Amino acid sequence: MYYRYYRLVRRLRGFLLLAALVLVALHFAAPGRFPLLPGLVLAGAWLAAFLYALGHVLLTRRRTYQCPYCGWVPYALDAWRCRGCGQRVDVFLQLGICPACGYQHEEFMCLRCRGVAPRQRWLRLG
Ligand SMILES: [Zn+2]
Ligand SMILES: [Zn+2]
Repeated sequence: MYYRYYRLVRRLRGFLLLAALVLVALHFAAPGRFPLLPGLVLAGAWLAAFLYALGHVLLTRRRTYQCPYCGWVPYALDAWRCRGCGQRVDVFLQLGICPACGYQHEEFMCLRCRGVAPRQRWLRLG
């Protein structure tokens, strides 16, 4: 469930920041015509979205995994496509087993550096 919220928030975040900047810029260009408040409200919404996304990453970090190339630590995200059934899956959730079809993924791709490595190399020992 929170996968969907996270994706939505990530998508909204860029839009909120842009809209807030435009509104604040309009206010400074013509203070009489454009009040500051809407810009501030949107900036507040952006901040909330930013903190939500940050909290999601920190709270759902999979500390037992790490990218062998760049050190990226995965978090709860259904950003991978299952090779068995084609659905969006979170490959790190069940050691690479797709929750929908049971396909066992032997290789995981890093979302930061796009490097692909076998499962064993992702496991962080100790
Ligand atoms: Zn990486
Ligand atoms: Zn599958």
